[in-house]
Amino acid sequence: MYERFWQQEGDKATIVIPGWQSMSYFSDIGNLCWFLEPEFARQVLRLHKIVGNAVTENRHIVVGTGSTQLFQAVLYALASQDSEEPVSVVSAAPYYSSYQAITECLKSGLYKWEGDARSFAKEGRFIELVTSPNNPDGFLRDSVLNRSGGVLVHDFAYYWPQYTPITSPADYDIMLFTVSKTTGHAGMRIGWALVKDREIAKRIVKYIELNSIGVSKDSQLRAAKVLKVVCDSCESSSNTTESLFEFAYQLMVERWQNLRVAVKHSGMFSLPEFSPGFCKFTGRIFEPLPAFAWLKCEEPIEDCESFLRSNKILTRGGRHFGVGPQYVRISLLDRDDNFDLFVERLSSIRKDNLYQHMGE
Ligand code: PMP
Repeated sequence: MYERFWQQEGDKATIVIPGWQSMSYFSDIGNLCWFLEPEFARQVLRLHKIVGNAVTENRHIVVGTGSTQLFQAVLYALASQDSEEPVSVVSAAPYYSSYQAITECLKSGLYKWEGDARSFAKEGRFIELVTSPNNPDGFLRDSVLNRSGGVLVHDFAYYWPQYTPITSPADYDIMLFTVSKTTGHAGMRIGWALVKDREIAKRIVKYIELNSIGVSKDSQLRAAKVLKVVCDSCESSSNTTESLFEFAYQLMVERWQNLRVAVKHSGMFSLPEFSPGFCKFTGRIFEPLPAFAWLKCEEPIEDCESFLRSNKILTRGGRHFGVGPQYVRISLLDRDDNFDLFVERLSSIRKDNLYQHMGE
């Protein structure tokens, strides 16, 4: 959905990298994060300052190959190398499905996926992943485990003003961000962590050093340029120019309106309802406009994913997110054509289709 904005910007975000440039592994040898491109770091700080969504003072910035790599680096950094027991990793359901897949994929002895934070009762050290706004359901979240022995990791992939009101700058020990959902450049594979503790930041850097000897400089330079254009678009938004956040906000408003009409029309599904909040960045009061629709099929449909598949709508079922099959997650960030087709197909589902499905 962001493609149109970047097309409108023309060559503003184009970069040219000569063959002799950015050849070394190193970017900033004096920095704790020695592979961090200074210009990328500058634009990250500038963007947080403009939007007001995170405290950046007294924080280390660590760049990663997407926040996906940073998540893995954070697990490594928080696990104890000499402990007999793996540290437990939890998140309140419904949680982002990759947390479980990534935590389990190497069968590591350092950390162990323990699922839904709300039903976690084990003794010992734990890491709680707090995603706010949450993927898949879009709600703002706080930690649910109110006890000692734990470290919180805040995933702020969606804490941007096109998705949710920016109520205050987030101020936590470990915060993850990504360009994927900020500007739409998921393929650039760039994310960043804001980390308070120097020793933890060093261990995150160590993991990235072992895993990929740093992060693509080409991508960081491109990300720096893209973020610069976003910052410029915010600072100079006038009648003729529109900021990236305004562009995306308007589109999300329209998409959620169309989606809610279609859902109401069908009478067979429901969507989460959100309370409005005041956004300090835009000065507007609005309801969250999540990047995903967390759709619930009403009875008698039991398996929402297969029901929708039979209606030519591909979704991801609730089980991936730690809940039941009556839920599905649907991305709302696709291109206009696909989104319109999706809404059209959803609104044309009728009770007759339902009985046809159940008869199969
Ligand atoms: N965290 C959350 C909550 C996400 O939804 C996503 C993207 N789906 C990521 C992290 C991954 O982001 P990246 O592309 O930076 O690896």
